[in-house]
Amino acid sequence: MAVNEPLPGTSDLWEPEVSDWLLLENKAREVFPRYGYSELRTPIFERTEVFVRNLGSETDVVQKEMYTFQDRGGRSLTLRPEGTAGVMRAIANRGLDQGEEARVFYFGPMFRGERPAAGRRRQFHQVGVEAVGADSPWMDAECIAMLTHFIEELGIRGGKVMLNTRGLPEDRDAVSAALKEYFLPHVGGLCEDCQRRLDSNVWRMLDCKNPACHEVALEAPKILDLLCDTSRDFFARVCQGLRDLGVDFELAPRLVRGLDYYVHTVFEITHSGLGAQDALAGGGRYRISLPGDKRTLEGIGFAAGMERLLLARESLGLKTEAGAQTDTYLISLGENAILAGLKLAGELRTKKLGGRVKADFSARSMKAQMRTANREGASVVLIQGDDEIAKGVVTCRNMKTSEQATVSLAELAAWLTKHA
Ligand code: AMP
Repeated sequence: MAVNEPLPGTSDLWEPEVSDWLLLENKAREVFPRYGYSELRTPIFERTEVFVRNLGSETDVVQKEMYTFQDRGGRSLTLRPEGTAGVMRAIANRGLDQGEEARVFYFGPMFRGERPAAGRRRQFHQVGVEAVGADSPWMDAECIAMLTHFIEELGIRGGKVMLNTRGLPEDRDAVSAALKEYFLPHVGGLCEDCQRRLDSNVWRMLDCKNPACHEVALEAPKILDLLCDTSRDFFARVCQGLRDLGVDFELAPRLVRGLDYYVHTVFEITHSGLGAQDALAGGGRYRISLPGDKRTLEGIGFAAGMERLLLARESLGLKTEAGAQTDTYLISLGENAILAGLKLAGELRTKKLGGRVKADFSARSMKAQMRTANREGASVVLIQGDDEIAKGVVTCRNMKTSEQATVSLAELAAWLTKHA
C-alpha cells in the first residue's frame, strides 16, 4: 500500500463527493425535525463498557469488530461502532423523567474492523434516530414512515421495507427452544459460527449468509408463530399503522438483526442498486438499561449507512458531477498588481460579489494564470497589471462569451452582477 493512501476501508472525500454528503446531512436536518426530532452529537469514542453493555457480548460487533484501545490511564476505550449506545449514555447522563420522551437524530462516522468490501467499510457513516421513552406501536410505524420519507426525499426510489418482530423478552425462551430443536439435527452441515450460535445465540442462525445455513434456515419455525398474544397484537398494530400511513412493507420472518437488545419490531430497508451488501438502513425497538439508572427504557430507532444511501443514489444516476471550483478568478501581473489583487478579492468577498473568488499570487505569466482560471471553470476573470492600477480600472473577461471590457472600480459591481 502506498504511503499516502488512506487505510483499507477508509477514504478521503473531495468535491464533488462532499456536495453529496452535505445534501444528505441537510436533508436529515430538514426531515427529522419535522417529526419532532432534534440533533444530538455524542463523542466518537466512549468507555468500552458502554458498547459491551448495550450491544451484548455475544454480538459480532462486540466480539470481532470493535476498535478498542487503552488510554494512558489504562482505561479501555472504543471508537463507536454504532450510534445508539452513546445516545443512550448521553440521555442517561442528562436524565429522563418518568413518562418523558427524548427524540433525537444524529449523523457521523462509525468504526468497525470488518473485512473491507464494496459497501462495507471500516470507517463508515451513519445517520440515525432514537425515540426513547416511547413504547407505543404507533411510534414504530411513524419511525419507519419517517425513514422511508427521508429516503424518498433523497430521490431514492425502489427501497424495500422488510419487517419482522422478535416479541417480548418473555417470549425469548420459547422461541430459542423451538429454534434449537429445529436446528439441532442439521448442525453438522452448518458453518462454524452457527455451530457456536446453537448454544450462544440461536436467533442469529436464522439470518446467516452462509448458503448451507441459509438453506436450512428457510424451513425454520417462524418467530411470529411462536409469540404470545401481547407480542402478536403489538406487531399487528405496527403493520396497521404502516398501512394507514401508506408505507409498503414485506414480512421478513428470518430478519432478527444482530444485536441482543431488540424487542418487538425489527426492520431493514434494502435496495437492489447496492449489490451484495444490500441494506440501506436497519433498526428496531429496543430495551436498554441506562447506566447508573435502575430503569429499563424502551425506544425505537434506526441507522442508515450514508455511503450506501449515496451508492443507491448513484445507481439511479443521481451522483453530483464535478463542476466549477471558482466563479471569479483574479489575475495579477507584477508585484504591485498582486497586492491590488489581494485587496480587490477581499472587497469582493465583503460585498458578496463574484461568488467564489480566487486571487492568483503566483506572479506567473498571463497565459499560465489564464490556464488555471480555465481549469477551475471560472466564469469571470479580472485582470490587473501596472496599467490598470495606474488608471484605476480592471480588465474584465466573461469566459463563456469571451466578452471583454475595461471597467472602473466603481463600475465593477454592476459588471460582475451582470456577468458572474
Ligand atoms: P447496523 O448498525 O449494522 O444495523 O447498520 C445500519 C446500517 O449501516 C446498515 O444498513 C448499512 O447501511 C450501514 N453499515 C453497517 N456497517 C457498515 C459498514 N461496515 N460499511 C458501510 N456501511 C455500513
